[in-house]
Amino acid sequence: MSQLETDLIHKGRAFNESKAVVSPIYQTSTYYADDDLQAYIIAATETKHPNFYHRHGNPTNSQAAAIIASLEDTEDALVLATGMAAISTAILALVKSGDHIITQNSLYSGAMLFFKEFLSDYGVEVSHVDQTDNAAFEAAIKPNTKLIYIETPSNPNLDVTDLAFIGALGKKQQITTMADNTFASPINQNPTSFGIDVVIHSATKYLGGHSDLTAGVVCGSKAYIHQVWRRSLVLGGSLSPFDSWLLLRGLKTLAMRVKQINSNALVLAKWFSQQAAIKHVAYIGLESHPQYALAQQQMRGGTGMLCIELVGEGEQAYKNAQQVLNKLEIFANAASLGGVESLVVHPASMWGSHHDQAQKKTSGITPGMLRISVGIEHIDDLIADFEQAMADVKA
Ligand SMILES: *Cc1c(COP(=O)(O)O)cnc(C)c1O
Repeated sequence: MSQLETDLIHKGRAFNESKAVVSPIYQTSTYYADDDLQAYIIAATETKHPNFYHRHGNPTNSQAAAIIASLEDTEDALVLATGMAAISTAILALVKSGDHIITQNSLYSGAMLFFKEFLSDYGVEVSHVDQTDNAAFEAAIKPNTKLIYIETPSNPNLDVTDLAFIGALGKKQQITTMADNTFASPINQNPTSFGIDVVIHSATKYLGGHSDLTAGVVCGSKAYIHQVWRRSLVLGGSLSPFDSWLLLRGLKTLAMRVKQINSNALVLAKWFSQQAAIKHVAYIGLESHPQYALAQQQMRGGTGMLCIELVGEGEQAYKNAQQVLNKLEIFANAASLGGVESLVVHPASMWGSHHDQAQKKTSGITPGMLRISVGIEHIDDLIADFEQAMADVKA
């Protein structure tokens, strides 16, 4: 097997049947039928067939999926229109009314809504536990538990879930385990090496990497991906040909981008920890992270995601965070993450409507917190930007 840097460029190349070095965009909804009727029947029924109808498959989608399956070391993968399409389709391929799911208190806000509002309306029971407490996952298991769904590091507060523990627990209890690996990216972490069954990505983030597309991917066994694909036919979240082509293009530089981002983020996190205007820095790659040792065991890099907590209490901290946000010039105030450009958000104001006060508390969102997605700009410019933005922050 080749190394992932090589797979990023060459895997799935056979899906490009043209002579073009760069795969063409198959901007078509449908494909000419094969003269051989038998072959056309196969095209209409085979999982992800790339030349029948777009909701079934597309050559570029197959190529992108082949690369990502290889990065996550799974038999197969399915690309979809968004990360949320991947999450919802993957879960609906596994659970039905009467089943029970165990998940974390801290989750991506869209996934949280899916668990709290959508699934509860359809008779699926969900328990939320503290992801840093292994015993809590085990204690939450019921006879009807079908899925343990985790996200690590979690969005936004960067808590780490013990992948090896969850992988082993799932195997022992015959419960499917699923991990959202968006924050880490496959460059920094591979959940399947710890026994996790299914890996999800919002490919909108690091995999695409240029903030110019939305996409999602589900990685798992061939049999399971077949089930997810069948669900996707009726839920309809197929990835558009153009976004798929952009994803393929973005993937080629994934390893380079993420390595540069890891390095920028570590330097920035260390600098933040010496600033008087900052009360707390949460970064996986800092020894001060309460789960540094666990992160070292299961991750190869710290990611570009970090959270800082500005000084001040309550209202003052909220004001300080807003003020810094407004003064930053390179870091753009925009949702999303994982692109080449550095972004920053203020979760307490952004997720005001998704999370009530109690939820904000359990998911670790505080008034003075800024969540930062570090890009590939020069590190000196990134530091200088925060230096000027924080110049007159008061406690
Ligand atoms: C953004 C994100 C998602 C959702 O992805 P979309 O592409 O926006 O639908 C899911 N999980 C995590 C961790 C994310 O950051």
